[in-house]
Amino acid sequence: MSVRGNWDRRGGDPIGRLGSIDRRRFLRLSGAGAAALVAGAGPYTERALAASALTSYPFRLGVASGDPRPTEVVLWTRLAPRPHDEDGRGGMPARKVDVRWEVAHDEAFRQVVARGRAPAYPELGHSVHVEVGGLRPARRYFYRFKAGADTSPVGRTSTVPQLGRAVRELTFAFASCQQFEHGYYTAYRHMAREDLDLVVHLGDYIYEYGPNRYNAPGGNVRRHNSREPTKLAGYRRRHALYRDDSNLKAAHAAFPWVVTWDDHEVENNYADDIAQHGGSREYFLRRRAAAYQAYYEHMPLRRFSAPAGPDMRLFRTIAYGDLAHFRVLDTRQYRDDQASGDGQKPSSAQSRASRRTMTGASQERWLLGALGGSSARWNVLAQQAFFAELDLGSGSSRQFNMDAWDGYWAARRRILDYIATRRVRNPVVLTGDVHANWANDVLRNFDDPDSRVVAAEFVGTSISSGGDGSDQRLETQRIRARNPHVRFFNGQRGYVRCHVTPERWRTDYRVVPYVSRRGAPVSTRATFVVEAGRPGLQRAGGGRAPSAAATSSEVEGDRARAQRRADE
Ligand code: FE
Ligand code: CA
Repeated sequence: MSVRGNWDRRGGDPIGRLGSIDRRRFLRLSGAGAAALVAGAGPYTERALAASALTSYPFRLGVASGDPRPTEVVLWTRLAPRPHDEDGRGGMPARKVDVRWEVAHDEAFRQVVARGRAPAYPELGHSVHVEVGGLRPARRYFYRFKAGADTSPVGRTSTVPQLGRAVRELTFAFASCQQFEHGYYTAYRHMAREDLDLVVHLGDYIYEYGPNRYNAPGGNVRRHNSREPTKLAGYRRRHALYRDDSNLKAAHAAFPWVVTWDDHEVENNYADDIAQHGGSREYFLRRRAAAYQAYYEHMPLRRFSAPAGPDMRLFRTIAYGDLAHFRVLDTRQYRDDQASGDGQKPSSAQSRASRRTMTGASQERWLLGALGGSSARWNVLAQQAFFAELDLGSGSSRQFNMDAWDGYWAARRRILDYIATRRVRNPVVLTGDVHANWANDVLRNFDDPDSRVVAAEFVGTSISSGGDGSDQRLETQRIRARNPHVRFFNGQRGYVRCHVTPERWRTDYRVVPYVSRRGAPVSTRATFVVEAGRPGLQRAGGGRAPSAAATSSEVEGDRARAQRRADE
């Protein structure tokens, strides 16, 4: 299994840490033969799907594509005629079912360029991950699946340009944090109408809480249909609930996605094998294995990312020609426990300890090596946790979020040292997690206010988490007074759109005024530009001028929200 073969994690093999449970039994317990199953998924006996086997339409969860390469892309679907069934089987029989797939130049499938068959195994929730090869670089394609007499909705995808080819432009969007109960996914409806080459999802794709256990300030508008999942069936149902949303399905069907996770795909604020509220590591790793498998089953990921027990390789590079290389990070699976407990704390010897890691040693080596050898004009870190320093305190009390990079101070310093000394070209950090829009100049050394700017960070707000949100203009003034490198803050919902050329990076913060009702319009709240070779954000047109219209109750609300931020 290649996934385990190149495994080299701090603390050694996590299975070895399970003590009394032997590895084979653990894999069986966690239902985690996924990597083996996927690796062995070569030739198989064709078994026609009897029309009677499916009680109703099996493509309710739609289609998706992802992780594009110049001549390849992953196509995804999951057969689930009854996606909300309690047993997590989606209404499917307990046997392998063959699915046919087609890729065409046109939406009507008159010019089919590739077709084939793929197995859908009950062990993987009858999910299908097809790595279609032989495509042409930088081309748009349409795809669909067939099972029995049923045909899936049509998806649209594209390949990326070849390395070494001059690429004029890239347009992509990134998003994160879509608590289902907190609001409607109107932002995805708007995103699906954009003209994008890619979508990047930075985590909190699902939230694990039971019904109404995590409430938006204005109250929840939808309801989780099951209690907090800890096993595979529960996580499958939760993914199915989210994925059954028509706006989310539309965004998946419109573009190839590049996904990574944060904490809520498993449990709030977990760190490696440590649960939020303690408990045995054996139990938590079993839970993590179930959550990781359900995540793999619902995402357009390569075989490379198939889970092996509680391990799943998600950090990887997505190259868009030589214009932009995305280093997709996993800042949950290998991190040290939060320093001094979760929440906002002053920095401490513990939070600044030189050995602390956010990525694990292996991922850090990979990241630095990739940045050092990069041929890309723009070097993008697609990741979860707030990267720039952020003092959330008041008066003389400096307070930092221990779950963000501020709680992993030395790990951030190692990356910044490397970027500065190796002169990594045009680094841009993309961030999720905090349910608000931010634009930050990343300083060479945050302990030195005169330090130079070495990178840009764009933090994207949530799709729905936190409910309607607001523009929080007074909060912006307060934050900027304490953090001069923060250039923009906004607490509305939406997504971020980026237009990238060899000369210039433009970021548009796309916001919706509410998510508690359907049908919100979208607008661009602010635009920032970075010129290649000149680190530092420049404010551009597209946003309204700041006003002092915020009320004192808004400021109170902002303070309360800042206090809650650690729970996000
Ligand atoms: Fe979140
Ligand atoms: Ca999070």
